[in-house]
This record gives sequence, C-alpha cells and structure tokens, in this order.
Amino acid sequence: MEEKLKFDDLGLSESTLEGIRKKGFEEPSPIQAKTIPHLLKGDKNIIGQAQTGTGKTAAFGLPLIDRLTPDAGRVQALILAPTRELAVQVCEEINSLKGTKKLQIAPIYGGQSYGEQFRRLKRGVDIIVGTPGRIQDHIDKGSLNLSRLEWLILDEADEMLNMGFVEDIERILESVSDTKRMVLFSATMPPAILNIAGKYMGDYEVLAVKKEQLTTNLTEQIYYELAERDKFEALCRIVDIEDDFYGIVFCRTKIRTDEVVERLINRGYDAAALHGDISQNMRERILAQFKEKRINILVATDVAARGIDVTNLTHVINYSLPQDPESYVHRIGRTGRAGQEGTAITFVTHSEYRLLVRIKRMANTTITKKSIPEVKDVIDIKRE
Ligand code: ADP
Ligand code: MG
Repeated sequence: MEEKLKFDDLGLSESTLEGIRKKGFEEPSPIQAKTIPHLLKGDKNIIGQAQTGTGKTAAFGLPLIDRLTPDAGRVQALILAPTRELAVQVCEEINSLKGTKKLQIAPIYGGQSYGEQFRRLKRGVDIIVGTPGRIQDHIDKGSLNLSRLEWLILDEADEMLNMGFVEDIERILESVSDTKRMVLFSATMPPAILNIAGKYMGDYEVLAVKKEQLTTNLTEQIYYELAERDKFEALCRIVDIEDDFYGIVFCRTKIRTDEVVERLINRGYDAAALHGDISQNMRERILAQFKEKRINILVATDVAARGIDVTNLTHVINYSLPQDPESYVHRIGRTGRAGQEGTAITFVTHSEYRLLVRIKRMANTTITKKSIPEVKDVIDIKRE
C-alpha cells in the first residue's frame, strides 16, 4: 500500500503551508501529492492527469505560490484556461491559497474591456490566468511581454483542445521564451494532447492518478428512458422529490436551455440559464447567485458550464446526451466532488440509446436504468 503523504512532506515552505491551513485543506489529494514535489524542484516539464474535481488547480497553484518571487516586475507564470469562468475560478483558488505572500494574480479573458486589462498589465502582474484568444491578442498588441516567462501552464488542456484553441495555443507556445517550464494538466489524455506535448514539451514526465474507472465512484449514475416531450415533467419530479435539490441541468443548445429555464420559472422554480449568448457580466452574476444557492437549478450548455467548480451539487442532469463520452465525464464530474456524494441522471430517448451505450463503453462506467418517479410518489413524499 502506498503511504499517505501529508502537505508537510511535499517540500512546501512554511509560508505556503500556512496558506493551506488557512484555506482549510487537511491533506493533499493524490494528484497533488504526486505532482507538487516534482514541480517544486528541478525544471522538468510535467503532465499531470487526474479526474475532474481532484484538485488539479492547487496541484500547480501551490508550487507557483511557493516558487515565485513577489514584485519581480515581470510576468513569471502564464496559466491558460479554456473559459472565462475557469480563468476567474483559477485566480480565486490561487488567491485563496497564497496566504501572506504578496503575489499579483490577474485573469485576462475575452469579453472584458481592453482598457482595464492594459492598466492591470501595466501595474505589474506575477501570474496571469487567461483564455488563449485574448492572451494572443495582448501578445500581438505588445501589451503582454512574455519574454522572461518562467512557467507556462495549460490547465484543462483537453477542454481547450476540444474548444478549438489548438492554433492559439500553438502560437502562444511559439512566442514565449524557450527557457520556461511547461506544465500541462488534463482530466483525459487524448492523442491531440500527446501531439502538443511531443511538439512543444521536449523531455517531459507524465504523472497520472488513474482510476480503473474514468468517472468518480461517488457519483451514482442512472438513466431514464423517455420520450422527448416527457423530459420536462421528469425534471420537475426529480427536483420535487429531492429535499434540497441543487444541480446543473445540461442541454445541448442555447434555445433549449432558455426554453427549459422559462418553463421552470413559470412553474415557480428558482432557475437560471448559462450559455454563450449571455453577457459576461450576467454570467458572473448568475454563477455567484448559484454558488450562494439563491438559484438552485442552473440550466447550461457544455461550453458555458465547462470546469465550473460548484461544490456540494446533489445532481447533474443530462437533459440531452452530450455528443462525446468525454463531455459526459466532465458533466458528471461536477457532482460528487471533493468527497461529496451526488447523483447523475441522464435522460435517454429511444434514438439516443446507441449513444448512451457508446458513452458507457468509452467511459468504462456503469449507468443503471431506473424508472421515473411516479407523480404519486412525489405527493406521498411531500405529505410526510
Ligand atoms: P480539478 O481541476 O481537478 O477539476 P479543482 O482544482 O477545481 O479540481 O478542485 C475541486 C475542489 O476541490 C475545489 O473546491 C478545491 O478547493 C477542492 N480541493 C482541492 N484540493 C483539496 C484538498 N487537498 N483538500 C480539500 N479540498 C480540496
Ligand atoms: Mg481544473
């Protein structure tokens, strides 16, 4: 049996350990225990692979906090993330872990005004967390100088590639200094990632925490077979039956997302939509409301919900099946996080059944068929 490492054993400085205590983390997650010692010493390029929700942000965030020099007057680390929400979240996580160390961390993403970003970059930043497109824009405009970059981190690399950022990423990789250290974190390791690694990472080491199953065991996975027109009622029943429903409902299109939210609101539920047509400001507001549980049902498209870290979700509901197994794993990775239990429910129409079989096989997971709770059951439960 492998010995369980403590944060004290990883080689972190006392001030970083203090930050971890303040944050309330008790022991490192497996991917943290595996990668932190390597990232603290030497300069080897590293790939870290572990399931969603296993603490990959702190796995690279803590070594950065430990190793970077405050007020060095240059961007020392660049973290690329797939979406605005994720960039903000990574900044928040690192800020909440940095303790008393005076590191400047800024998110730089599309949709935010350039003026504000120019000013922020001028004031001096140690760590930038950005989306590839906007970072590339700043490099082109000359407002971002990465010539003395020490760390380049690709977070949720599989997602970034899925979202079509390959060219932006490759251009960024070509324009930064050769001496930087490259670190890549991902939940999955598709060929496109190995391709990037082979091209840009030279000699690298893969540190993986593999489970025999790709999905987390804490999530109960079930599916209901139903007709498209019955999906909405089924959703309402699931929410009604649960004492304290707190979940994300995934839809495939923006239109469907809006439609489901409208119907939920009409029925008196506290729901909101999150998709790409909703303004950045609004998205941030909705996410904040959801995190505070002022809204307990978030209806979202895959892109909008990517990597969102909301803890303690009771449910993830696949109102429509995602096209690919990896999205399924990412969607349900949002429940059962950090030791919490959760339920993932997938709605499957007759025509989607083959897709479900493919997902089951490729994600190497068990999804159990159940029948939709009867209205009668709902009423009984409510009466108790
Ligand atoms: P990933 O990037 O692997 O999907 P995150 O970095 O978003 O996972 O972490 C998921 C959640 O787990 C976050 O809320 C984070 O604060 C929490 N977390 C991370 N590491 C630990 C730890 N060692 N102990 C307790 N909670 C942790
Ligand atoms: Mg992550």
